[in-house]
Amino acid sequence: MKPRVPAHLKQVRGRLIVSCQAWEDDAFHGAGLMAKFARAAYEGGACGIRANSPDDVRDIRAALDGKLPVIAIQKRHWNDGRILITPEIEDCRALAAAGADMVAVDCTARGQRYGALDRIRFIESELKAVAGADIATVEEALAAQEAGASFILSTMRGFTDETARVTRFEPGFIEELVRVLRVPVIAEGRISTPEEAQAALAAGAYSVVVGSAITRPKDITTRFVRALRNWSERNGCYLGVDLGGTNIKSGIVMADGTVRNAESVRTPVAAGRDAILQLVSATVLSLRETAQQQQHLCPLAVGISTAGWPDPSTGSIWYGTGNLPDWTGAPVAAAIREAVDLPVFVENDANALAVGERHFGSARDCDNFLCVTLGTGIGAGCFLNGALVRGAHFQASALGHIEVEPGGLECTCGRRGCLEPYANAAALLRYSGPSYGSARRVLGAARAGDENAQRAIAKLAEYLGRGLRIASRLLDPQRIILAGGLAQDNAILVDAVADAMAGVPVSVSTLGYHGGVAGAGAVARSGIS
Ligand SMILES: [Zn+2]
Repeated sequence: MKPRVPAHLKQVRGRLIVSCQAWEDDAFHGAGLMAKFARAAYEGGACGIRANSPDDVRDIRAALDGKLPVIAIQKRHWNDGRILITPEIEDCRALAAAGADMVAVDCTARGQRYGALDRIRFIESELKAVAGADIATVEEALAAQEAGASFILSTMRGFTDETARVTRFEPGFIEELVRVLRVPVIAEGRISTPEEAQAALAAGAYSVVVGSAITRPKDITTRFVRALRNWSERNGCYLGVDLGGTNIKSGIVMADGTVRNAESVRTPVAAGRDAILQLVSATVLSLRETAQQQQHLCPLAVGISTAGWPDPSTGSIWYGTGNLPDWTGAPVAAAIREAVDLPVFVENDANALAVGERHFGSARDCDNFLCVTLGTGIGAGCFLNGALVRGAHFQASALGHIEVEPGGLECTCGRRGCLEPYANAAALLRYSGPSYGSARRVLGAARAGDENAQRAIAKLAEYLGRGLRIASRLLDPQRIILAGGLAQDNAILVDAVADAMAGVPVSVSTLGYHGGVAGAGAVARSGIS
């Protein structure tokens, strides 16, 4: 035969109890605040309140004129360094004196080790009050019932070492408790939707306690923020443009770095700066349309990887190179922002590639690395301690202009003996002799076993190693990543550079042909995160 439920607790049957508690670090912790939550719960139709500490119990009873029964607990930091619910006889006495209609005690295996069942007996037989047992397993519930608890609450399910695998509300557990117990079961713990509350009643619960889902604005906010972030991770995208002296490459960059709708058009160098900016704006606009209308994605930001050295705070070019006409001072971000209503981030092309490696490539787990672009020119981007290094004039990592041959060949920068004319595509052709026609053909011939071509690559690698050793001593990178036309499918070069570097691992960019676009997307992604 089921024991009689005390009259003052009968009103919670089949209805909602709201748990009104705030941790010490919660914005709502403090005198009187939980009474306001209780008041709102009452006005919303709740039929009971669960509260922590005699003060809150008194406040809440006063605020509600004692109209709703209060399940009272006292949370304490316990000797084992964790929170324990109502761990002392004195707590039981103080809660009852404050007007608690039920005093609940942690009766899990851990709670029982600290005398929980004695406190259940004390509450029922000495205080002549109603004891509730917060449990996580059927065995704990049976022991608490045996000790005289009038109610069993599933509060601790999923919050003990033994039940840590449980991460959701389990109606099946409530059913099991109802089946084996004589006393009523109150469902509590991780009930976060009205549907789950219904399922608790369907499983036979006498009443349902909901806490965080109602009275923790911080947790509620976090749930929404996480949901939106997950949606953005799945459906958000970045519009990437890799703006070079020869081609403008573009594409939609997903959160995992994959590039969709990649395109490449010739850069209208002869038409001048405004024409280039107009073409980039039109490209971005068209990408945005494609992303939204065809791919049903949500463009979050635009990233521009460009030749020259932009000031990232303004998105204008601080110092341009000869590759693009009149590029110093070009207001790249402003021009594109005007055309497309999205945040725009502009970065030097070699830096952007390093940002791409950091977000999507082989440097995802690497805080200190140098990413080197080998092609017509030589550029580099460097991360130290997890941050991109730009320098005082945004021109850091100018690897191509490290002096490797004093008084040597003239460089595009106007000085002599820089690394670039000794390790770029033109240098490779010079070392091999002009009969190959292009650097690409030299690479192909070397792969096919042509020893002359292989010697040319070894010579280039020797110079590159000279420059990289200087950089490496200065920067102490964990890894050097080679990218660009000369590095792709060129194991001979990579092996030769690795030998020259003795100790610092050298690898090839995994971002592939659209690495520049992925890098631009990564610049956009890091700009808004
Ligand atoms: Zn130079």
